[in-house]
Amino acid sequence: MTNKEIANAFSQLAELMEFYEEESFKIRSYSNAYRVLRSVDSQLSEMSLNELKEIKGVGDAIANKILELTKNGRMRLLDTYLEKTPSGIVALLGIKGMGVKKVQQLWKDLGIESPGELLYACNENRLAELKGFGEKTQQNIKEQLEYYFQSLEKYRWASVEKEADDLLDDLSDIFEKVSLSGAFKQLNPVLDAIEFVIETDDFTKLTEAALLNEALDRGAIFEGRCKSSGVKVKIHKAEKGLFAQKLLQTSSSEELFNLVKSNVPDCKNLDEKTIFEQAGLPFIPYELRDMPGVESFKEIPELVKLSDVKGIIHAHSDYSDGQTSLKVLADYVRSCGYTYLGITDHSQSAFYANGLKPERVLKQWEEIELLNKDFEDFSILKGIESDIKNDGELDYEDEILKGFDFIIASVHSNLKMTEEKATARLIKAIENPYTSMLGHPTGRLLLARPGYPINHKKVIDACAANKVAIEINANPLRLDLDYAFLPYAIEKGVKISINPDAHSKDGVHDLRYGVQVARKGLLRADNCINTFSANDFLTALKK
Ligand SMILES: [Zn+2]
Ligand SMILES: [Zn+2]
Repeated sequence: MTNKEIANAFSQLAELMEFYEEESFKIRSYSNAYRVLRSVDSQLSEMSLNELKEIKGVGDAIANKILELTKNGRMRLLDTYLEKTPSGIVALLGIKGMGVKKVQQLWKDLGIESPGELLYACNENRLAELKGFGEKTQQNIKEQLEYYFQSLEKYRWASVEKEADDLLDDLSDIFEKVSLSGAFKQLNPVLDAIEFVIETDDFTKLTEAALLNEALDRGAIFEGRCKSSGVKVKIHKAEKGLFAQKLLQTSSSEELFNLVKSNVPDCKNLDEKTIFEQAGLPFIPYELRDMPGVESFKEIPELVKLSDVKGIIHAHSDYSDGQTSLKVLADYVRSCGYTYLGITDHSQSAFYANGLKPERVLKQWEEIELLNKDFEDFSILKGIESDIKNDGELDYEDEILKGFDFIIASVHSNLKMTEEKATARLIKAIENPYTSMLGHPTGRLLLARPGYPINHKKVIDACAANKVAIEINANPLRLDLDYAFLPYAIEKGVKISINPDAHSKDGVHDLRYGVQVARKGLLRADNCINTFSANDFLTALKK
């Protein structure tokens, strides 16, 4: 164990004890030990108990803990604190610039228990208004968190999109035949590297261009990291005439590629379209190429496109926790070419998000009616994102519930449930006659929070039986309903709505991430109700 590692163990111990508000003199002695031990010149791991005690600021207790560490690699006292602390909190404490007081406050005030939840809160602007934080701190924390997630070597698709596009441009300047490939090309929500295929004899030009850090030529693959962000990059080499074959290979499941190869052993100088044709297969779009069983498809359905979507459903205004006024948001959505906005602010029990008490619901309805009078080619629908309470009930009296045009029911609290309890809670909400749509069914945050476990089949069956639609929450952190369950939902006749869950004007454009995963789940426009007109959207939801 290095001196630095030993010192860090004391620093972590001090932080955790501070987190649990232990006696301050103990905390001080451990954080003091951290500072002292960092600057010791000789190897702590080779010192005896007496030698350790001779270091200024190191008493009996600390010397013994150093011995424990160097002998076993662990410290019992530290372990007891680590065991009783959620791993997400430990991770938060470890992030540069966070500090114990901040982590405590975020935990107490906003219920944040992990770096992913914190990033989500930053994106929703929750820290800007929080006492002791503010916009600038929020921005700093966000940058630290982005870094933290990159260092975990897993990336959300949306967070590497810009790097992928920039690198594609740079590579296209050097090579004639270049394509993105792998998980990025397949539009997978989470990936572990940005992959490319280039046609070249060797990687000399790539080495010379010095586009990547930590670049490594492995013969068939060139690896490195984005200079700006450190994101992992893999570049596959295609020999002359075999560009399409390499692209097919690196963007397909093994089953699909093997089938194609056995039908078309010589792919030289063929393009992908011709290869699929000669293999006797329909052209399989990249987003479906890792789908189990796709190699046996006789035809590919016409998948939903971004341009099919007519209405923006699930958006928050500054009535609750959105950044803009209802009017500004509506004007913006209209200017983007959409014909309706289903506004869904938070309901009253979402106090942290300024959820709407009944009198403010009435006020919003009044404003919507006024605004709608001025629109000819556009309308605002009166929606709400109603919390599903612990017992599965919705968040208002029937008197209010029946006044909405549609209701999205979502879980935002008590996320730690057994599968049985979570499933029953959702089904109770689905059976409520006022529920028209289920919001983000599992509450997951990708790479951050797994979400509560649910029996997807039972939930989808309940939606089918009660004519309740399910949203694909298009926020790139959520993408919930997971696309893997779409084929079953479609088979059961459940209607799907692709919803940006926008908290700002920019947030409206998250819609496209939802469309991407919808395509991976074989969704067509006729299964997707916000590709309908406003009237047909509401009719599809009526019971
Ligand atoms: Zn929500
Ligand atoms: Zn929402």
